[in-house]
Amino acid sequence: MFICVDFDGTIVDHRYPEIGQPVPGAVKWLKLLHRQGARLILFTMRSDGGVAGNALTDALDYLRSEGVALFAVNENPGQQEWTSSPKVYADVYIDDSAFGCPLIRPTGFARPCVDWNEVGPAVEHMCLSRR
Ligand SMILES: [Mg+2]
Repeated sequence: MFICVDFDGTIVDHRYPEIGQPVPGAVKWLKLLHRQGARLILFTMRSDGGVAGNALTDALDYLRSEGVALFAVNENPGQQEWTSSPKVYADVYIDDSAFGCPLIRPTGFARPCVDWNEVGPAVEHMCLSRR
C-alpha cells in the first residue's frame, strides 16, 4: 500500500522552514505502518534552494534521524509507465490540510495538526485489510 504523507502539520508542527515539534504519535505510526509493508512517500511542498534554504533536506534528515524509512519523495516511481499525470499515486494521503482529516491542537503548536490517535489505527486497518 502506498501512503503519501505530508510533513508540516502532519509529522511536525508548522514552523516552516524550521522543523517544528513532533506531532504526537506521527513517527511511531509511520514506523509501524512501514513494518506492516506500507510504502511511505513524503508528499510535501518543501524544497531546497531559494529563501527557504534546504527545507526539504532538513525534513529528510529529520525523518532519517527518527528512523522513518521512505519509499520516495514527491513521486511514486514507476507511475510514469501508466500515466503522465503529476499527481502522485497513492492508496491514501495523510495531510493536515485534507478535508476531514482528524486534527488536534497541542499546547504551543502553531496550528492544528494530524490526530495520529485516530489516523494511525484507521490507516493500519486499511493496510491489514489489503494483505
Ligand atoms: Mg501540512
